[in-house]
Amino acid sequence: MTNTLYKPELLYSNGRFIANGEVLVSENGQLLETPEKASTSSTRVVDLPGKALLPGFVNVHSHSFQRLIRGKSESRIVSGKDFWSWRGTMYHAASQLEPQDVYDVARMAFLEMVLAGTTTVGEFHYLHNAPNGQPYDDPNLLSKQVIAAAQSVGLRIVLLRTAYLRSGYELPSDPGQIRFFESTNAFLENMSALIHNCSAPPSDVRFGVAPHSIRAVPLADLKKIAAWSREHKLPVHMHVAEQVAENTACLREYGATPVQLLSRERLLGPDFTAVHAIHISTDEIAMLAEANATICSCPTTERNLGDGIMAADHVMAAGISVAFGSDSQVQIDPLEDARELDYHLRLRQQERAILDQIAAQTLASRLFDCATVHGARALDLPSGGLTPGSFADFFTVDLNDVSIAGHSAEDLLPIIVFGLNRSAIRDVVVNGRFILRDKKHALQEEIISRYQETHRKVWPNTRTGGPS
Ligand SMILES: [Zn+2]
Repeated sequence: MTNTLYKPELLYSNGRFIANGEVLVSENGQLLETPEKASTSSTRVVDLPGKALLPGFVNVHSHSFQRLIRGKSESRIVSGKDFWSWRGTMYHAASQLEPQDVYDVARMAFLEMVLAGTTTVGEFHYLHNAPNGQPYDDPNLLSKQVIAAAQSVGLRIVLLRTAYLRSGYELPSDPGQIRFFESTNAFLENMSALIHNCSAPPSDVRFGVAPHSIRAVPLADLKKIAAWSREHKLPVHMHVAEQVAENTACLREYGATPVQLLSRERLLGPDFTAVHAIHISTDEIAMLAEANATICSCPTTERNLGDGIMAADHVMAAGISVAFGSDSQVQIDPLEDARELDYHLRLRQQERAILDQIAAQTLASRLFDCATVHGARALDLPSGGLTPGSFADFFTVDLNDVSIAGHSAEDLLPIIVFGLNRSAIRDVVVNGRFILRDKKHALQEEIISRYQETHRKVWPNTRTGGPS
């Protein structure tokens, strides 16, 4: 067995950087304890002069196909004025995609994630049926396309297979959603088959269960799905309180908001991730904290959709773990999500560094943890840090890049969190394998050219980019 020893100029360690640190990786891609003298004849040495090495980012919430609507919904004429009308543009893209397109678009989104230092994606996948609304011969065909895309790019994927059962409380079935719908029994059967037939190792491909939202999954079905998830020890992810209208409908149907309902029905827990959790009260924050649930915040998407601002100060003061997701892919940059979490509060409160010193942690270290270790927790992964026994997932940055040049080991982390340009990211390693080496991904040209073909197909009228 040949181990590999990585020797960066600076190594991230618990919220700061140390000079001459080393990272030892086993042949099967696990981080090992670094002995006093790791360099032996059976150890391969990778010198990384001029580079800092940091744990890879965990993107907890992605809808890869939505990469296709980037920039296509920035007009009121095309996409209306709010989240609900924006969905028309999203449904237009979703309705166009053949299985090959789903693969090609996912590869594009995943490539961009890698270029941003991401090593794991949690893909909240709800595109299941053929364009006519019927299941494919293999009802997991599109899930498998997305998994194959991640494998092609080299990114670890946690496929959060999504249950989408209805359009909403007292709402007629929306034709834009026919590719999403399944029955609860079909969902559970398909989920079982997908896991059972997956031949990839759990270091590369994993699974979670994602009831889409209270709006899309009635309570009785939600309880059944949650019980199944817990029996199979899988993480549960759900959109919660992204929009006020969603809370209002839930109040009408159940006499409770989504968080109140989830708490009352004992559906919250350490395995539960509430995606967004924007429109929640102090009492609801306490319920999520009490259950030790995670909140996945998606600030770049939330500001684009006009969703609102998550009360990260109250949430973090209550001890809730916050992770990040690129969600609609309007931007793919985990550090932009990280800094916006604080910036949005600054704009509202006209103060600075609002999340600093909560539980005596510095702001940069806290935001970096959200993008790494908290994400790994939400997806139940041994990753996110550089601790022995974890997956060897990390990236390097060029210490001479214009966006971060001029630093000391002590202040490099806040410079990275608040100023790093994605172009500074040089190498990305997943499970001990280089998937980006000196800014080059082996399949980059092919992935981009295939994506451009799909883009032309979905948006033939490139002048307006609007749905016909
Ligand atoms: Zn989402």
